Amino acid sequence: MTEFVQVKNFINGKFTDCVGLLDSFNPATGEVWAKIPDSGQYEVDAAVNAAAQAFPGWSQTPQAKRSAILQKVADILESRLDEFAVAESRDQGKPVSLAKRMDIPRAVHNMRFFATSCLNHQEKANYMDIPGALNYTTRLPVGVAGLISPWNLPMYLLTFKLGPALASGNTVVCKPSEMTSVTAWMFCEVLSEAGVPPGVVNMVFGTGPKAGDALVRHPSVPLISFTGGTATAGVIRAATATQCKKLSLELGGKNAGIIFEDADLEKCIPTTIRSSFVNQGEVCLCTSRVFVQRSIYDRFLEKFIAEARAIKVGDPSAPDTWMGALVSKEHAAKVTGYIQRAAEGGATVQCGHGIDTGIDGSNAINPKGYFVRPTIITDVKDDDAIMQEEVFGPVVCVVPFDNEEEVVRRANGVQYGLCAAVWTSDASRLHRVARKLEAGTVWANCWLVRDLHMPFGGCKSSGVGREGAVDSIEFYTEVKTVCVQIE
Ligand code: NAD
Repeated sequence: MTEFVQVKNFINGKFTDCVGLLDSFNPATGEVWAKIPDSGQYEVDAAVNAAAQAFPGWSQTPQAKRSAILQKVADILESRLDEFAVAESRDQGKPVSLAKRMDIPRAVHNMRFFATSCLNHQEKANYMDIPGALNYTTRLPVGVAGLISPWNLPMYLLTFKLGPALASGNTVVCKPSEMTSVTAWMFCEVLSEAGVPPGVVNMVFGTGPKAGDALVRHPSVPLISFTGGTATAGVIRAATATQCKKLSLELGGKNAGIIFEDADLEKCIPTTIRSSFVNQGEVCLCTSRVFVQRSIYDRFLEKFIAEARAIKVGDPSAPDTWMGALVSKEHAAKVTGYIQRAAEGGATVQCGHGIDTGIDGSNAINPKGYFVRPTIITDVKDDDAIMQEEVFGPVVCVVPFDNEEEVVRRANGVQYGLCAAVWTSDASRLHRVARKLEAGTVWANCWLVRDLHMPFGGCKSSGVGREGAVDSIEFYTEVKTVCVQIE
């Protein structure tokens, strides 16, 4: 009989059974490898009650003690890095090597960073000479926070919410993605071992429309931090419209890479390969539209295609694998559907899906896994679906442009505004273009260099709100102004 990983809800410091179970698939083999709870209103109510009961104790625990516990969480997670990386890969499809160098170290860093940044947070004060009053602000945790995270970077994004929510004194109910629940469940053991009191963190596993919906609608949950798709965010906004909840929404993107003719291609091409295909292109910040100045277009394209073709796709546990499998069969079908429709509409698929099958050398690809090779598409129009909609896979379009004004207009010509990457050696142009781009983050001559001190989030349909050192503390707390008249 096959042995499954049996994920359980974690409520009030205890692992609890759930009547209904869902299958969770290993994307690299297409086989069920875990069973997860199919939680609903009953489980969410129990988790919210536990969090509400734990709130007075945790919110009044001295900041330094909360910080010490969270730093211990980081230490224990770090000591189990390899084990978490293997589980993250098996659940999500990404290479183990990527989880070891990015996902789990970043989760450790998130916990450590927010545990300490909270200690250094300062508030405002202002003296009014007429009529003579001293004003100051003070911050209080909001209460029970609902944290809803997606499947692409499970531990990385869960801890980006959990770290600041807990450090600020909130208690939480987390609803990780139903497709990648295993590492969040393993993490509950780490939280207990580090001394996080029962009820402070509760994990409820299950689907969005059932467990997620019950959480966002819950009247005792005044704050929701959501990372996921723009369409889901619309459903959550509608579901919470009458309740005045605090909402942070980190959503999809259709990110542009802009490569001017004076760019350092030696640096730009490998970085743009990474920005297009890392984590199978399943990072909200991945580049999906590359605009290249016409004078270097052919040279760029030739090298870019050669580097994409050299990527090792295959068994996520093999040390030389650079790209693993997409998260699910349905998602792989969605991604390949976009490629197919683009080709039918007259686009040229230069490499990857449907072109390079079977030529990738040493890494055997399991035919039952959800693999899609790095795909580069040209000869598309700006208003084609593949240039407008988030594909969220290893697919990138490359198009030429002639001048600065034109490329800024075209880069901004989508509903999203998450991030962009600009490549040029002209510093003035770089700052000029960065200011004009409608995006929450602009990277210049680099990509995915993340400083947690800086605000992170999207504009337009890419989100509402910002998270980062100061921004997260502001979101996870209510600020109060105290005014003291001085006679
Ligand atoms: P998704 O919106 O389908 O699901 C995200 C989470 O929301 C999951 O836990 C899901 O179960 C839950 N959910 C679904 N329906 C819900 C509902 N009605 N009520 C409450 N919760 C519900 O997104 P996904 O497919 O898991 O993730 C991919 C998307 O996430 C992409 O669009 C990607 O760009 C985006 N993303 C954004 C960022 C960012 O920081 N901006 C980061 C990573 C991923």
